[in-house]
Amino acid sequence: MKFNKVLENLKTYEAGKPIELVVREFGIKNEDVIKLASNENPRGCSPRVVEAIQKEAKRANLYPDDSMYELKEGLAKRFDVKSSNIIIGAGSDQVIDFAIKSKANENNSILMAKTTFAMYEIYARQTGTRIIKTKSHTHNLEQFLELYKNNRDIVIIFLCLPNNPLGECLDTKDVYEFLKEIDEDVLVVLDGAYAEYAKFKDKNKEIVVQDLIERFPNVLYLGTFSKAYGLGGMRCGYGIANSEIIKTLYKLRPPFNITTLSLKAAIEALGDEKFVNGCIEENFIQMKLYEEFADEMKLEYIESFTNFITLKFTNSKKSSDIAQKLLKKGIIIRDLASYGINAIRVTIGTPEQNSKFFSKFREVVYDSTR
Ligand SMILES: *Cc1c(COP(=O)(O)O)cnc(C)c1O
Repeated sequence: MKFNKVLENLKTYEAGKPIELVVREFGIKNEDVIKLASNENPRGCSPRVVEAIQKEAKRANLYPDDSMYELKEGLAKRFDVKSSNIIIGAGSDQVIDFAIKSKANENNSILMAKTTFAMYEIYARQTGTRIIKTKSHTHNLEQFLELYKNNRDIVIIFLCLPNNPLGECLDTKDVYEFLKEIDEDVLVVLDGAYAEYAKFKDKNKEIVVQDLIERFPNVLYLGTFSKAYGLGGMRCGYGIANSEIIKTLYKLRPPFNITTLSLKAAIEALGDEKFVNGCIEENFIQMKLYEEFADEMKLEYIESFTNFITLKFTNSKKSSDIAQKLLKKGIIIRDLASYGINAIRVTIGTPEQNSKFFSKFREVVYDSTR
């Protein structure tokens, strides 16, 4: 059968391996598998959220409130913007899709960092647009600017702040200087999936969304409940922008695009700041242990402003080899070989999960040098 040409060379997104797969393939007991591959919150979500979802289960027969009034009001209050500045997606993933479909086509191009969130490229390829990437793996604004100036057909620029899968984060003041150079007709997407972590660690990374969209009417800010809020399984994210952008994205939104339960979960999660802050605080305490571990193992790492850390290997070790050996011991992490980097990305887990990771990693390295 013939399909659209743009789909021919399109790879499907390789999600982090699920726990179920490791149980099936290696016969490891479910409770012995540790998943540190998808940047989920290892402490789960707020107990208040669990309770709300259980209660709401009785209403699973009903479509959700398609206006998402309460959630949008909650977000509007949180970010000091209007409801008309907000769109909700089935994960911020879906808002990325809307953003790309709103402008990209086979006659233009979009710009992103060489190593960044894979879904930008996947959605972009569906439209036939050209994808331009910086030479630098991490975000380098000088390279962004040069490519922007030399390719006048760029319609969307993606900045992932902080960046997944490498963990680095630009300073907000540098981002603002960059935005001043960009034409108002170019949509700049600032993906803040890990913004809660970044601003906790370093005030220079804080983005005040209300100020951002007021000063730059061409910017779309993205946030998600999947990471710090611990709701990856609920699929809920949001976009915040000038109401003209939001109105256009709405044309691409299918009705009832998140579930009745997700909607309830997100509303409740927003109300429990204390839970989220506690998780973030512990995240960075635990990350310190990873940094010390990396030093001990003589591994390089990238300073991370997120809930994961990227560990780099020298030529004597191969990331895919290490990833496979860890998998056999029930530890799922993310191999970055497919990004052309000899490194693994490890989500910061609970204290117990992390110490297990350290000991299994030592075993793997010891076995392979024997
Ligand atoms: C996880 C992630 C998202 C979106 O996650 P959803 O679960 O779809 O909300 C977006 N951008 C980046 C960089 C991410 O890491």
